[in-house]
Amino acid sequence: CAAAALIVRHRMRSSSRWARAMAILKEFEVKCGTPVAKLKQVADAMTVEMHAGLASEGGSKLKMLISYVDNLPTGDEKGLFYALDLGGTNFRVLRVQLGGKDGGIANQEFAEVSIPPHLMVGTSDALFDYIATALAKFVSEEGQNFHLPPGRQRELGFTFSFPVMQTAINSGTLIRWTKGFSINDTVGQDVVAELVRAMERQGLDMRVTALVNDTIGTLAGGRYSNKNVAIAVILGTGTNAAYVERAQAIPKWHGPLPKTGEMVINMEWGNFRSSHLPLTEYDHALDAESLNPGEQIFEKIMSGMYLGEIVRRVLCRMAEESAFFGDIVPPKLKVPFILRTPEMSAMHHDTSFDLRVVGNKLKDILEISNTSLKTRKVVVELCNIVATRGARLATAGILGILKKMGRDTFKEGEIQKTVIAMDGGLYEHYTEFSKCLEITLNELLGEEISKSIVIEHSNDGSGIGATLLAASHSQYLGVEET
Ligand code: BGC
Ligand code: MG
Repeated sequence: CAAAALIVRHRMRSSSRWARAMAILKEFEVKCGTPVAKLKQVADAMTVEMHAGLASEGGSKLKMLISYVDNLPTGDEKGLFYALDLGGTNFRVLRVQLGGKDGGIANQEFAEVSIPPHLMVGTSDALFDYIATALAKFVSEEGQNFHLPPGRQRELGFTFSFPVMQTAINSGTLIRWTKGFSINDTVGQDVVAELVRAMERQGLDMRVTALVNDTIGTLAGGRYSNKNVAIAVILGTGTNAAYVERAQAIPKWHGPLPKTGEMVINMEWGNFRSSHLPLTEYDHALDAESLNPGEQIFEKIMSGMYLGEIVRRVLCRMAEESAFFGDIVPPKLKVPFILRTPEMSAMHHDTSFDLRVVGNKLKDILEISNTSLKTRKVVVELCNIVATRGARLATAGILGILKKMGRDTFKEGEIQKTVIAMDGGLYEHYTEFSKCLEITLNELLGEEISKSIVIEHSNDGSGIGATLLAASHSQYLGVEET
């Protein structure tokens, strides 16, 4: 969106204006095209990068991070455990009383706190102090339904949804921030140590026994309720995937071979990029003006933080070059990130005959009044183009993982069921997006195999998953309850 002129200088006749607007839309649609052949190229590129990322540190844009989780929940986990889930605009604190064998989740409580925007770009201490304060308050409200054996320290699973280079199950350094966070002094620091120091400042005595990405938490939570869960995908503010890899297929892993022979990998697929991705000038501009230029390219074309912003950018161009919204470019349309993905989703799902929701959103958010039905239809069409591209590319990513795992075809005589645990607000609330993703998965896999591959919504599995991993890495494992 060029900042300068408010007035569209070349006043055009309305028919040629419309033609110009349609030409901009059409060109965008063509550039966003995701025919099956392209999706297969993207999937293959994903598989290639997965191999490269596993081969050596820094071998690929795909970090393929080792999670130190080599043992997923079995159902035997027992006791009171806490989790702290930080990753988007909110964070959650949870306590869960795990019932042990056949006991399931006996009790759980959570609280959700929104993060003031200034803390997302401030200092490390300020952010962690804020979190630790909310956690301390939550702990102080622990009721009768939760039971900690006397003399024991409370234990916590920390779900931290950013790329972290782990050094153990309960420590790791932040590689970089994503999703609108930008706090320089945290980068390169051990995020568990940051949290522990902040807890100490609050006088809160708690031990962090597991540090996990949200994909890892979701995988663990998913596995607890379904043993066929082998992949987790997050489609929310950001996007990412994790899966279970054979330890022997990880050349860069020099540690001991886990008993299970397996290691969960946090792919950080948001940072994937490939010449096969259908990128447009709008994507390049969005990236260049972002907090993290050149990074998280896959994320920037499909996740909740960015979809609405892409729509805004195209509308802005149409307004500037074809006077799509009249002679004046609506000033609000020039404000980055003003059109959020939930609003885009609401417009996309408008089924009223006069597209009233679209009309109201344009008015309320962008201060554009009296739009014609024809104009509103174009806006819906634009939302559809952007959401479809994102959903289809996410599916290509999933196909890439299935290929790497050898689960995209039937092995002789073997029908192995694969469940993909999926979470995130985009997947949960943007129905057209998730519908498209499911249809595309069947389209890519073919009828036979699609029957054995299922997507399951794992509702906030990442928090529960973190408590399960906190339990399986507890300092009191094997110690009798008193
Ligand atoms: C982060 C990942 C995270 C994903 C989903 C991305 O921006 O880099 O670590 O899993 O968002 O929350
Ligand atoms: Mg989350």
